Amino acid sequence: MRKKATPVMDVHDVTETSNRVFQFGAIALLFAFLTIITNVIHGNTLSTILVSAMFICMALILWLNKYGYGTITKIAIVSVISIFIMIIAFAEGRDTGGYLYFLPVLFALPFLINNSKSYLWEVVTYFSITITCFAIVLVFCDERSTWQHISDETYTKMFYINNFSIVVLSAAFSYLSIYLERKYAKALVIQKNKAEDAVEARTKFLSNMGHELRTPLNGIIGATNLIRNGSSLPEQQKYLDILKYCSDHMLGLVNDILDFNKIEQDKLELHPSKCNLKHILTQSLLPFYNRFEEKQLELKLEIDPELDALIMADDVRLVQVINNMLSNALKFTEKGYVKLEARLKKHEEGKMEVLFSVQDTGIGIPTDVQHRIFDSFWQVYNESTRKYGGTGLGLTICQRLLQLMNSKLLLESTQDKGSKFYFTITFPVVSINQPSSIKGETDLSDLSGYRILIAEDNLINMMIAKKILEDWKAVVTPCENGKIAMDVLAKDNNYNLVLMDLEMPEMDGYTALKEIKLLHGHLPVVAFTAALMDNNMYTSLVEQGFKDCILKPFQPAHLLSKIKKYATKPMQEMAEMN
Ligand code: ADP
Repeated sequence: MRKKATPVMDVHDVTETSNRVFQFGAIALLFAFLTIITNVIHGNTLSTILVSAMFICMALILWLNKYGYGTITKIAIVSVISIFIMIIAFAEGRDTGGYLYFLPVLFALPFLINNSKSYLWEVVTYFSITITCFAIVLVFCDERSTWQHISDETYTKMFYINNFSIVVLSAAFSYLSIYLERKYAKALVIQKNKAEDAVEARTKFLSNMGHELRTPLNGIIGATNLIRNGSSLPEQQKYLDILKYCSDHMLGLVNDILDFNKIEQDKLELHPSKCNLKHILTQSLLPFYNRFEEKQLELKLEIDPELDALIMADDVRLVQVINNMLSNALKFTEKGYVKLEARLKKHEEGKMEVLFSVQDTGIGIPTDVQHRIFDSFWQVYNESTRKYGGTGLGLTICQRLLQLMNSKLLLESTQDKGSKFYFTITFPVVSINQPSSIKGETDLSDLSGYRILIAEDNLINMMIAKKILEDWKAVVTPCENGKIAMDVLAKDNNYNLVLMDLEMPEMDGYTALKEIKLLHGHLPVVAFTAALMDNNMYTSLVEQGFKDCILKPFQPAHLLSKIKKYATKPMQEMAEMN
């Protein structure tokens, strides 16, 4: 059976005033009717005629209101009531207290004004009409009527009746204002919760999708890298290159969408660590050399020698910014060169101010749209750019990352001549005498003597990580879950590092870590996950005892640097050092 949908209160329903004009008019009609009866009983003919006329006018306005003349009927009903109260006050004299009906009218006015653009206009108009009529009565009206005869006894009785009605009406309208205010606030809270729930559901969906997409991508990228580096037929190499390019590109797109999701949640964060700036910059160019060669473009690199120093920075995010600028430069340049430059601007008080720039001789960006290219999803869209593709998110993400680094991406560009994107970052310096290459690259990728235990339930991921590590001459012990890893460690815990997936059957990574800390405290454990990482999750992993985290899909160089950083030294290396 289909469930009946629960009606949802809309903020618009609460602020809708045409119903309120009707309710206000109906209350005024009721009181006018009672006043007619009172006047008939007391024989006040003129008052009876005037209140009856007011009654007829109000009934007419309410009838018009039914046909949707909202704005006219509101001003009409306020005017009719105010003018008639004024005229009746002159007809009766102030001693009946009837002129005090202006008070409940003033209480009722906020109840009639809606939250539209004409809000201020309505406030000024309605209050002006009522207060003007009220003031005329206070200034010009006598205490006793000269228009009709009313006895002293009737004056006293009418005074009490009118005052009682005025208090009741004022109280009723005050209460209605409070009631509506609360109803409006409640409707807003419901709307806000609905919007928050929708955003939360989307974030959750994207983060799950991220995990789901990154896991198979890890397999594709890893397998492609392994086949490319192994022996393949020359004609296969071309297809493997395509496969590598497409899978890397797809990973870039998935990461951009996930980063954008984090920006919207204000969850994009930095994880600074010690790194060598020159090394970061040289590494960031590695994925580009082939692509530049294919396009027959020159890739220039100018790094200030003084940047060969150890600083604190989020190297992954810095490389992401530079890579994005480089891939845009490559995409939008057909001939000439692209230059990556890093120059030391200032070095004082343990801080380095560095100017980074990526300059190209490409299609350039027209001056009138330069300010728009940092907007999300925005791309210069014309005949010459149509072929380039992309999501239009790259520069938004770069700008946000640089904002987190207290910097800003700036642009100088001339159409058909080229563009220069640049920014300045100040880094805390750890040490200036820390050259980037302590050992050569070949040395670095040698893990002989290292024993590494991997706990991972995804067999493809396991196969790839194992193959990569074995190519680097490490001895790898694969375990399908945390429990098997604990059984293996119980027999032999002589490992240099444990790579631990988080979500696994039988025993997950968190539980396995707790047991390792208890039973084999010396073993460094690094989380190995495709889950989306935010600062809270990262901090929580480190607090629980993980040394760090490697995100899948991983780049082999990244895996290697983390292993070198956290693994305990193998026996023979320790002996050599001594
Ligand atoms: P995407 O490259 O995915 O379209 P970006 O946010 O990185 O998204 O770039 C937004 C737009 O800015 C690009 O589509 C392009 O129109 C313009 N743009 C960025 N870099 C360059 C460049 N180096 N030369 C010319 N146009 C560029």
